[in-house]
Amino acid sequence: MKTDVLVVGAGFSGSVVSRQLADSGKTVVIIDKRSHIAGNAYDTNDKHGILVHTYGPHIFHTNSQEVFSYLSAFTKWRPYEHRVLASIDGQLLPIPINIDTVNRLYGLNLDEEGLKSYFESVRDPRDPIKTSEDAIVNIVGWDLYKKFYKGYTNKQWGLDPSELFASVAARVPVRTNHDDRYFTDTHQAMPLDGYTEMFSRMLDHPGITIRLGVEYQKIRQEYSPKHLVYTGPIDEYFDFCFGKLPYRSLFFEHEHLPTVQKFQQVGTVNYPNEHEYTRITEFKHLTGQEHSGTSIVREYPKAEGDPYYPIPRPENDELFKRYQKLAEKEKGVTFVGRLAQYRYYNMDQVVGAALSASKSILDEI
Ligand code: FAD
Ligand code: UDP
Repeated sequence: MKTDVLVVGAGFSGSVVSRQLADSGKTVVIIDKRSHIAGNAYDTNDKHGILVHTYGPHIFHTNSQEVFSYLSAFTKWRPYEHRVLASIDGQLLPIPINIDTVNRLYGLNLDEEGLKSYFESVRDPRDPIKTSEDAIVNIVGWDLYKKFYKGYTNKQWGLDPSELFASVAARVPVRTNHDDRYFTDTHQAMPLDGYTEMFSRMLDHPGITIRLGVEYQKIRQEYSPKHLVYTGPIDEYFDFCFGKLPYRSLFFEHEHLPTVQKFQQVGTVNYPNEHEYTRITEFKHLTGQEHSGTSIVREYPKAEGDPYYPIPRPENDELFKRYQKLAEKEKGVTFVGRLAQYRYYNMDQVVGAALSASKSILDEI
């Protein structure tokens, strides 16, 4: 079958590239082994009519005007600032750690300068900062690290923070003011009609053919495109020739509570030291939907299953680099996205990577 470009994966990376190439006059076939578009950002009404994120909570935030403007062609937005509480020693406390977290946890009454002095007195200075343990104890010392970071990280990754790059825990900063927002980006908003609807508009183009429920390995012989865009796991593309790249998986336990208006005070509550799940998210906070009941999801980390997270640590990076060298030699193929680039990318970063990959592809074909 004829097409200029075959795109494997209909998540953010594959969908943005498809639209960019189609807008430049290329014919594109985009496939996904799942039965739907939108990749891990997929959302759908559950059987009670509440819009839920099948693969866990997705909150859009970016500092990139380019990315925000690009997506705005396919959706209107609902402003939304995510807030998270952590369940610690019987209290629900703001995370990222801020002045109120420390004051409420320890029964103190520090002001901003007082909190800075407090951190100075408890921190365990580290230089260089290499691991997630370094990144946190260097700022807040051992007690806050153990209460807020160590247990959560052990559960989420099956690893100690000392075994992960500093960038993992540094995603959740420490503040000395009262700001209790999870993100501080200039743009924080949810697609007004949901992610899937936004993807649907992005892929609605005469140059784009969508094939769902189709695995690349089974249909690769059917096409000889001028270019292939691959957004699945990079090790799978190369038949695991150097061994499996570790990805962390999750089990999502969705639950509907028919008689509960609001289950929790904020969008997400984290459980660093209790339960087998890491966090509970209540979707109505994210979407603003009105409903007589509510729907929540609990996330249980696991080693096996669908690949959701690359695991940022030195040995995995080394293994990825070996695959990356093979990828560079693979003529006429672009590897882009969280799984193909083995990067702990947020959605906006994936859109940025896909926009720049599209430019390079158009220079080539
Ligand atoms: P994916 O969305 O994974 O898409 C890849 C697609 O390729 C999949 O649909 C897959 O089925 C398909 N595929 C793979 N292999 C094949 C094959 N061989 N044949 C056919 N199809 C194939 N980011 C944020 O910015 N904010 C958040 O709040 C946020 N929350 C998250 C919560 C969770 C639980 C997870 C897991 C991720 C979260 N992210 C969040 C990250 C976000 O999901 C990703 O950055 C983004 O979805 C990655 O897009 P992608 O296209 O690279 O990959
Ligand atoms: N983290 C933590 N405690 C928390 C929240 C996060 O230790 O209460 C650490 C943990 O290692 C986690 C990482 O910070 O995996 C990144 O958290 P984030 O909320 O960004 O994770 P994601 O939403 O990507 O799953």
